[in-house]
Amino acid sequence: MTRAVDPGLCGRCEHARAVTSARGSTFWRCSVHDRDPRWPKYPPLPVRQCPWFEEGG
Ligand code: SF4
Repeated sequence: MTRAVDPGLCGRCEHARAVTSARGSTFWRCSVHDRDPRWPKYPPLPVRQCPWFEEGG
C-alpha cells in the first residue's frame, strides 16, 4: 500500500527529485544539499516555505 505524500513546494521545484523506495515510500531529494550540506537532503514534507525554491520541477 502506498500513501500519497503532499510534498508542498518540492513538488514543483527545480531542485527536487522524487525517489521511491523498495517499500513504496516516496521521498523528495533536494539537490541544494549537494552544494550546502547543512541543508537536509530529504526535507520534512510538506515544505511550505523554502528560501531555495525555484519554480520548474
Ligand atoms: S529547494 Fe526547497 S522547495 Fe526546492 S526541493 Fe529543496 S527543499 Fe524543496
